[in-house]
Amino acid sequence: MLDQFKRDVHYLRLSVTDKCNLRCIYCMPESGVARLRHEDILSVEEIADVVQACSACGINKVRITGGEPLVRRGIIEICKRVAGTKGISEVCLTTNGILMPKFADELKTAGVNRINISLDSLRHATYNEITRDNALDEALIGLRVALETDFDAIKVNAVLIGGVNDDDILDLLDLTRKYKLDVRFIELMPIGECADWASSRFVSAQNILKLAPDLKEAGTDGVSKQYMLPDGLGTVGLIRPISSHFCPTCNRIRITAEGKLKPCLHSVDEINLRGLHGADLERVIRDAIYGKPKKHKFMESSPPRNMNEIGG
Ligand code: SAM
Ligand code: SF4
Repeated sequence: MLDQFKRDVHYLRLSVTDKCNLRCIYCMPESGVARLRHEDILSVEEIADVVQACSACGINKVRITGGEPLVRRGIIEICKRVAGTKGISEVCLTTNGILMPKFADELKTAGVNRINISLDSLRHATYNEITRDNALDEALIGLRVALETDFDAIKVNAVLIGGVNDDDILDLLDLTRKYKLDVRFIELMPIGECADWASSRFVSAQNILKLAPDLKEAGTDGVSKQYMLPDGLGTVGLIRPISSHFCPTCNRIRITAEGKLKPCLHSVDEINLRGLHGADLERVIRDAIYGKPKKHKFMESSPPRNMNEIGG
């Protein structure tokens, strides 16, 4: 449906847990977070109701995220219910990839079309520094298994941190020479754990174009500007929430694991959906979509949540 600024909002990012098997330095505190109790997060039934109500309000694409969605109990049933909802034509899942070998076939059978795997470095020391874990080999096996499973598309998400993994850019680009996948560089956003980091850690996506001048423009894909290397099998996407405002074309809403609807990633406002049913649930979602703010304000204020709670 259209919001008050005539943007067509049809994409839901649904967080199914705040738990994670990694602790990325920009996303989670080293000590972890006080985890929500199972009864505090939406049950599979509640998720199914919320997605159905969102679909009635014009949502046709759902991204399942977290925390790490593959650690959520009942994740396959959740995917099945979401994919089986009338009006939902695309189901994507964003994961750190570590549990992909265990779940790939079941995700595909459940109706998940697309997978994004977050991989900020291909070097052990840097991956360990960012994720605070020694799991690069597992993540790479996860990527391989995802590529071997017949999903419609595989993307690799990389968040660049100045002085940490900005020297990984060429190696990450090289993945698009080897595999038919989309490597997306996402500018680090000053939210939660990294809200007060030094400005030198926030690397503009422009640096990628400087390092790889042979990247040729290849259109857009949602909020991502697409490029290709001359000998690339896959594509390269630049997502620039910092250096280029994409609010005028924003098409998404978010729902946290506890059932709070966030009309904008940076909204401090959260609309509780828990306990609502049928026409009431649909009305609250419709009002929230209509009232989506015109643009984000994270340069002025940061929402009081870490990304593991919001879902990226
Ligand atoms: N655990 C899964 C994963 O890492 O793919 C899904 C949840 S994670 C919060 C979703 C995405 O958000 C990841 O690609 C992560 O790199 C990104 N992310 C987390 N914090 C971020 C930040 N401050 N700025 C930009 N992207 C961020
Ligand atoms: Fe976990 Fe994803 Fe956050 Fe890393 S970015 S700590 S993998 S939720």
